[in-house]
Amino acid sequence: MTKIELQKFKQILETKKDELERIVRNRDGITIEKSADALDEVQHASERELAIRNLDRESNLLRNVRSALRRIEDGSFGTCLHCEEDISPKRMAAVPWAPFCIQCQEQADRQRADGDESLDELLVNAA
Ligand SMILES: [Zn+2]
Repeated sequence: MTKIELQKFKQILETKKDELERIVRNRDGITIEKSADALDEVQHASERELAIRNLDRESNLLRNVRSALRRIEDGSFGTCLHCEEDISPKRMAAVPWAPFCIQCQEQADRQRADGDESLDELLVNAA
């Protein structure tokens, strides 16, 4: 990857990081609203659950974005964390914070579905 390409990715990632940090910082916005109306309670509970699920996704994404920025600094950006092959340029363009090549990502998704998070742990260790 050329310096100019790296610079471009860095900019995209920095922008994404700012955006996600703003969202995650607002996590305190998830309040537990008490309501006398039981139906209201159910409504609030599911809204809260959705908000927490979204936040979970945003936090994971933020972790990936931060770790991609670190990989730009240490020169390993664009390389799969698992098999250490180059991640295809097409994938990098679509998902600049992708930690894995498409094969390893599919493997990670399959493992996650099976309750095995060993590839996820790679991410945590890299973050
Ligand atoms: Zn891979």
